[in-house]
Order: sequence, then C-alpha cells, then structure tokens
Amino acid sequence: MSGDHGSSVISAHVREVEALLEERGLLDDGEIDRRIDEFAAGGSPANGARVVARAWVDPGFAERLLADANAALPEVGLSMSGGLQEQRLKVVANSATEHHVVVCTLCSCYPIALLGPSPSWYKSEAYRSRVVRDPRGVLREFGVELPAATRISVWDASAESRYMVVPRRPEGTEALSEDALAGLVSRKGLIGTALV
Ligand code: FE
Repeated sequence: MSGDHGSSVISAHVREVEALLEERGLLDDGEIDRRIDEFAAGGSPANGARVVARAWVDPGFAERLLADANAALPEVGLSMSGGLQEQRLKVVANSATEHHVVVCTLCSCYPIALLGPSPSWYKSEAYRSRVVRDPRGVLREFGVELPAATRISVWDASAESRYMVVPRRPEGTEALSEDALAGLVSRKGLIGTALV
C-alpha cells in the first residue's frame, strides 16, 4: 500500500467520524475548521512576547501599536487575520499609574494568533466573574500586588474585539537584545495577570 493511499483511507475515516459527531450534536458544524485555522495561524505566546519586545525597544512602533494594533502587527510579521475573519485587536500598555487586565466575561474570546490557545483559568467561571468585580483581589491571588494608587482597567473581550497587554519593561534590562527581552514576557504578562 502506498503512503498516499494509506492517508486517503485515513482521511475518509476522519470525515466519517466528523460527520457522525456532527450528526449527534457532539461537534458543532465548522468547529474542526476553526481549530485548523487557529493551528495554521501558528498562534503562540512567543508572538505576543515578540510584539512587546519590539514595543519596548522602538517607541515609534509602540505608539503605532497602541493607536492601531491591526495596522502595526505586520511590522513584526504578524497579523490577526489567521482565523475566518480578521479580529479587531486593541493593545493596552501598563504604566506606573495604570495596570491592565483582560477577560472575556461571556465566554473565552482571546487573541489566539498572539497568545496561542487560552489557559484553562482564563476560561473558568471564577476568573470571568470575579476579575470584573474585584480585579485587585484576583490579581493578588496571581501574586500581583499593586500599589493602592495604581488604577486597574479591566478589558472585556468579545467576538469582535480582542485585547493584549504590554507589560512594563523591567528595570535593569537596558543592555538586553530584543530577543532576550521577548524571553522575559510571559503569557500571564500579556493578559495582565503577571507583571511581565
Ligand atoms: Fe468570549
């Protein structure tokens, strides 16, 4: 049996199983296509970290990113158009006086192209319901203790709008390369549940 024939037999089996799952309502129509789109988009927190590192070293890019993230992403070889339709991305930057945190109160909307698949805590009912009411308390549970004077802004993602946080650049990192800076940025930092 040639490899090609083998894989076409497997494809036929996969299509049968997919049809059965859809027929029994276990899989909604198009879900597999969406997952494949997400996978093909190459989503990973390393992408978001790369965007942050560029924003840290290039104030002009940071300004363009905050003004219109969709237009600025191609400068670092990224885009939000990996899925079925381009999602609106808003990037918000932490400062000495303001800290941003992202949630989707309705479900689990998330910028997969820049952060990869969302972590389970992001999808949890506890996080989604509590971070809006008590962001400071939730952040404390993540180990993020903010000065009382720091304003906390909570951004609620939706099907149309996704958000990403630019953490503050840590002190003492002036000598680091852009790649090394990207290595400091965590997925939690991009959501706002960690400082970096
Ligand atoms: Fe959602």
